[in-house]
Amino acid sequence: MPERADAYDVAIVGLGPTGATLANLLGAAGRSVLVLEREAAIFPLPRAIHFDGEVLRIFQAAGLREQALAISRPGVHGMHFVNGAGQTMLIRGGSAAAGPHGCANNYYFHQPQLEGVLREGLARFPQVHVKLRHELLGVTQDGEAATVTYGSLESGQRHTARARYVVGCDGARSPVRQAIGSNMVDLGLRQPWLVFDVVLQQPVDLPPYTVQYCDPRRPMTYCNVVGERRRWEIMVLPDDDRDALVRPDRLWTLVAPWVRPEQARLERAAIYTFQSVVAEGWRDRRLFLAGDACHQTPPFLGQGMCAGIRDASNLAWKLDAVLAGRASDALLDTYESERKPHVRALIELAVRLGNIIQTTDPALAAERDAKFEAGRPEVFELPPQLLGQGAFDPTVPDLAGRPFPQPQLDDGRLLDELLGRRGAVIGSAQVLSAASAATASRWQRSGAMVIDRPDASLQAWLRSHDAAAVILRPDRYIVGVARSGADLDRISQYLPVAP
Ligand SMILES: Cc1cc2nc3c(=O)[nH]c(=O)nc-3n(C[C@H](O)[C@H](O)[C@H](O)COP(=O)(O)OP(=O)(O)OC[C@H]3O[C@@H](n4cnc5c(N)ncnc54)[C@H](O)[C@@H]3O)c2cc1C
Repeated sequence: MPERADAYDVAIVGLGPTGATLANLLGAAGRSVLVLEREAAIFPLPRAIHFDGEVLRIFQAAGLREQALAISRPGVHGMHFVNGAGQTMLIRGGSAAAGPHGCANNYYFHQPQLEGVLREGLARFPQVHVKLRHELLGVTQDGEAATVTYGSLESGQRHTARARYVVGCDGARSPVRQAIGSNMVDLGLRQPWLVFDVVLQQPVDLPPYTVQYCDPRRPMTYCNVVGERRRWEIMVLPDDDRDALVRPDRLWTLVAPWVRPEQARLERAAIYTFQSVVAEGWRDRRLFLAGDACHQTPPFLGQGMCAGIRDASNLAWKLDAVLAGRASDALLDTYESERKPHVRALIELAVRLGNIIQTTDPALAAERDAKFEAGRPEVFELPPQLLGQGAFDPTVPDLAGRPFPQPQLDDGRLLDELLGRRGAVIGSAQVLSAASAATASRWQRSGAMVIDRPDASLQAWLRSHDAAAVILRPDRYIVGVARSGADLDRISQYLPVAP
């Protein structure tokens, strides 16, 4: 609990999915948190519908795996890219089978429902104070802490609170980003799209998979969301009358080949400008940015919210380690250096896909179609994105800085259930005993769990990577891999501890 009623470990501005995930992770770590959110209700317009297996694993770390699964469905059928002639050019694969994170690789959901799960999760933590209808008015910082000034949108009353760190999860217009003064770098895609959600009222013969209709006359996306929810995203063309476009009569005309008004209830419609931007400067001493506040992507890969949730996971354990005195402040500098290259690579990939989907020039579309062999679509998976330099051994980039898988252990538990919020040192007793006393003390000071009798699944991983031992961070990214007992002292240097 805060020592003073108005003094917190962390103040979070914004209770969207990024802020709510961060508040859950910090709450679960026992941190005192103030959350400021301008709105009373969860944002009702159509937004995210897809998250990936790593994101479910982060919800698991926050103790919300079952709750998130209860409102989602696994992405079994993938995504098909179809040209104007109706031929499938490219398929992003799908499967219900457990992938590396101990769950399916992709899930579909309705963002307001997920945000509901995350908000309910916060009720578990009495030391997390959520103030809805309270707006950040200003933030300053000194050597000891930051001071946030905020106002009630009900009573007009102004308040201040102190927090050791402030995280702006305050969305695209981010007042915290403005306070930091970070610039947004534009990665080149800026295009309005109409997005609308319907709820089917009767069975309709629609594909079970997502379809990217790359028709130069009117590019659009169709998504089977969850339950009876279906989504269309329709590119806005230069001659479109935007006001007319969101009127129900026009909406139903646009989707007439697939669904009729008597078959479905229109839930919401909105025009969004899809953009591709990344902020330069995610930290200014005690102030941080996370989520849409520091990056926005066109949704063609369904990764915008996922990126914000990865930010929350990356930052949560580092803030906790520094606040607990287990690591030095320098660890917090690795947040931007690790996350920015990862998110930038995903945005650039989404922009490249966007360029395939958004082609409206018939000649260019024909050229594009010719590159794909009709009838024999190429199947692709999202390539793994790498963290930039940070808190791991840079000499083995094919392993360190990548997520460690989550196998099922011999006792039936998933690995993360055993580890909780700790890091881990995994290897046979014989290998681990080769480490120096200073290294063993480092493991202890970092709070890592030492597993010196790895079960069959962990031994199999070590064998398949020709490794004698592996060290994991609390967010399950690999710190380093030791090929021999002697190597352990070297890689343990990358495990963050206080000086
Ligand atoms: C059409 C569409 C489809 C998408 N599909 C996907 C998808 O399939 N998968 C995916 O991963 N992502 C997707 N996204 C992206 C995803 O919706 C966003 O990335 C995500 O909502 C960002 O979350 P956030 O918490 O960072 O920001 P937000 O959700 O924008 O939350 C920011 C919060 O900060 C609050 N706030 C702002 N200023 C203040 C202030 N001064 N004081 C207090 N509170 C404040 C706001 O009220 C808001 O609640 C999609 C987006 C769109 C538009």
